[in-house]
Amino acid sequence: MDFDTLAIHGGYRSDDTHSSSVPVHRTSAYHFDDTNHAADLFALKQLGNIYTRLMNPTQNVLETRMAALEGGVASVALSSGTAAIHYSVLNICRQGDEIVSANNLYGGTYTMFDSILPDYGIRTTFVDINNAEEIESAIHEKTRLIFAEVIGNPVLDMANIGMLSKIAKKHSLPLVIDSTLTPPCIFKPIEHGANVVIHSLSKWIGGHGTAIGGIAIDGGNFDWSNEKFKNFNEPDSSYHGLRYAKDLGDLTPLCFALRMRLVPLRNLGSCISPDNAWLFLQGIETLSLRMERHNENALKVAKHLENHDQVSWVRYPGLEKDPSHQNAVSQLKNGFGGMVVFGIKGGSEQGAAFIDRLKLFCHLANVGDAKSLAIHPASTTHSQLDEKQQRAGGITPDLIRLSIGIESIEDIIADIDLALSQ
Ligand SMILES: *Cc1c(COP(=O)(O)O)cnc(C)c1O
Repeated sequence: MDFDTLAIHGGYRSDDTHSSSVPVHRTSAYHFDDTNHAADLFALKQLGNIYTRLMNPTQNVLETRMAALEGGVASVALSSGTAAIHYSVLNICRQGDEIVSANNLYGGTYTMFDSILPDYGIRTTFVDINNAEEIESAIHEKTRLIFAEVIGNPVLDMANIGMLSKIAKKHSLPLVIDSTLTPPCIFKPIEHGANVVIHSLSKWIGGHGTAIGGIAIDGGNFDWSNEKFKNFNEPDSSYHGLRYAKDLGDLTPLCFALRMRLVPLRNLGSCISPDNAWLFLQGIETLSLRMERHNENALKVAKHLENHDQVSWVRYPGLEKDPSHQNAVSQLKNGFGGMVVFGIKGGSEQGAAFIDRLKLFCHLANVGDAKSLAIHPASTTHSQLDEKQQRAGGITPDLIRLSIGIESIEDIIADIDLALSQ
């Protein structure tokens, strides 16, 4: 079925109650038929519901639908996008292993890689993700994965997933892609060779700023039987010595997702709530309709800002002059996403003042809401850094970040113009 059909029907038709819409299963645990049934579930001889930290029928619909929409084989929904990134790394890496990552990451991910994971023995080398030579020279025998965002922070530079996939394949490494800024109606990283796709569901997929959640989608297209991936090849003593890449038979292509559920999710516990899983399913039903409007509005805002005399620069992958435009045109379908960043003349002080003058835009630290959102990173999210550190991270004092909503474009532009004119 096509994307728009899967978005409505994927993973669910009806259940024992004949409910036409997906029910919210607010239960912590599930009855066993008898002691044999319980024993079989615990021994993985039979797959089924045990406890909602591990799996839940509402969550299962979300996972099936997202895997279908991304062209993956299975997925694991989690309590946040951050948890999905963390567990993807833990599923692959052990102490002493290393990551090669893009340097233009979402702030929380950068902190995880740069200052949290090293304390647990997992180090990251940050690279310019469009520089193939730099990536190749950062890879060595301890590297276990390549990580990038499709559209990076803060200036919306685009990665070339096909190019990254070639490098990853050459070195037998999985390519893990955070595709939060490019929902599957505009880009499917697995089609370009990615092996694991991550979304913060909290953004465009939920789409209304009402819930936090994340998901990791398994492309089923990576050979985990290479011995360097110890997690997949050494016996798991908590499952009778199971070797995930070797003993799962027909389920082997799902071994990344299965292990994520059975090891990090089961034992570290960042499960999604059934209510939030349901909210994300609601969001998915209108995802491609909403993205059409986000894309259209964002392009109009970017073009408007490009010609505004109070604006010194604009970055949006949909602008012909944008350094990422070629990369964007060759990869994205149906539009360029909802984020626009620009530089305001006058620098930091005018940046903060612009935000204060906005009336329609919400001033907050989020993206991917139906509402238009704005933030001035230099005076908020990155204000603890000095100007030199900010610049090193691409946060110039004049940078304004907009997440363009689906309101009337006339009202959005009028709000920007009023704030700029004052
Ligand atoms: C928001 C975001 C995250 C983190 O997701 P949470 O759901 O907030 O934990 C990761 N990556 C990107 C690109 C994001 O925008």
